[in-house]
Amino acid sequence: MGNARIHPILKEVAGIFNRAGKQVFLVGGAVRDIVRGKKAHDWDLATDARPEEVIALFKKVIPTGIKHGTVTILYKGNSLEVTTFRTESDYRDGRRPGRVEYAAAIEEDLSRRDFTMNAMALELPGGRLADPFGGAEDIKRGIIRCVGRAEERFDEDGLRPLRALRFAAQLGFTLDGAILEAIPGALGTTAKVSPERVRDELDKILTSPKPSAAFLPMEKTGLLALLLPDLAACRGVEQKGYHRFDVLDHSLLACDYAAAHGFPLHVILAALLHDIGKPRTRDLKEGVWTFHNHERESARLARNILTSFRYPNAVTGATVHLIEEHMFFYEDAWTDAAVRRFIIRVGEENLHDLYALRRCDTYGTAGVAPSPTLLLPLMRRVEAALAQSRAFSLKDLAVSGKDLMAIGVTPGPGMGTILNELLETVVDDPALNRKEALLEIAANYARTHGLTGPPA
Ligand code: ATP
Ligand code: MG
Repeated sequence: MGNARIHPILKEVAGIFNRAGKQVFLVGGAVRDIVRGKKAHDWDLATDARPEEVIALFKKVIPTGIKHGTVTILYKGNSLEVTTFRTESDYRDGRRPGRVEYAAAIEEDLSRRDFTMNAMALELPGGRLADPFGGAEDIKRGIIRCVGRAEERFDEDGLRPLRALRFAAQLGFTLDGAILEAIPGALGTTAKVSPERVRDELDKILTSPKPSAAFLPMEKTGLLALLLPDLAACRGVEQKGYHRFDVLDHSLLACDYAAAHGFPLHVILAALLHDIGKPRTRDLKEGVWTFHNHERESARLARNILTSFRYPNAVTGATVHLIEEHMFFYEDAWTDAAVRRFIIRVGEENLHDLYALRRCDTYGTAGVAPSPTLLLPLMRRVEAALAQSRAFSLKDLAVSGKDLMAIGVTPGPGMGTILNELLETVVDDPALNRKEALLEIAANYARTHGLTGPPA
């Protein structure tokens, strides 16, 4: 490995270790990237120096994982994770090693790592490659292979099967047969892994160039039924004539389309989960499958799934909303008021994502790229509506709660009801969005519904 590829900052840091008589290596994903001829992203280092020795060598060091021998050096605006050579044994919770022991040499440290391509180290500053398990050769052949026997390695840590499939989707590599054979026997161990760790791998799968490259082997090995049972249940659920695929293949195609186009995570999640309510809502009517209200059931299941994986509320909320709204069918016959109602229901800020989801969904029906003019008629009507009227939410109304109080409406839920009533009115007829007109309507409504307090 040529020294030229080693970043100057890494050489400087290595100098500090070396002058103290310590070795330091670049390890993990950065080495994998360099061997693949790509730019390394984050820098993980391994050293024979103990954490307290590393702390003494550098001005700014954060003890990020000192129990596992890891500290983070902040050096000239870079952050480097440094872990003392170690071996691991006594795995307890299906993931974290129960005991950490320091190792004397890099080779021993590399032998605890998961895959051959992740078990290489570049000595700093010189750039000698330590590759005891043939990782560079496997990268050249595009193969993901375990260090040692897959069954044993998966037994130690149930996250590894998912990491293997994640790397397959990220790198477009083939999985060694031994990995696929070992996963079913390790499902019990994977079941013990924390939801947050599983979610982090799922996110990496979903934002890879082709998520189905992980989801299909997940299905074959039983991981999909374990982690996403409602999605696994979509296999074999046939649909109406215009769909070429069952619900699972349809969902995976939609998801691949979203990922390949770099859509945001909540759109990718919505593409994957938008139809998971179909197995539970389907009904055979006169020889044709129907899925009445499946969007509501899909939204409910998606909320449960995303909550159980501890997704941030914002991601869950955005995903569920898109799923709930994915069944719109625009026709030219829609009135202007219907277009305005559509905008209000979806939310102006979400329209773009909902259009994106529809493109994914359309791609998933036949596996053919949707026409660039798909949705164009609706988009034009929406733009016209937005240009014509600004009354799409309560804050756009020409009157406020204060104005209503001035005419004697008491603050509280009743006032909310009146404001929503006014918005409805304005959506039907934007010309009414004037203060005098709305106050008159409000006063009438308040009187007939007994929402007026004693005169102010
Ligand atoms: P990326 O950062 O792109 O997700 P990575 O390979 O750097 O990929 P990390 O999770 O950052 O992955 O881990 C760094 C290195 O630590 C890995 O390359 C691997 O050598 C080792 N490693 C990480 N997780 C495990 C694990 N569960 N079992 C064994 N080794 C692991
Ligand atoms: Mg990394």
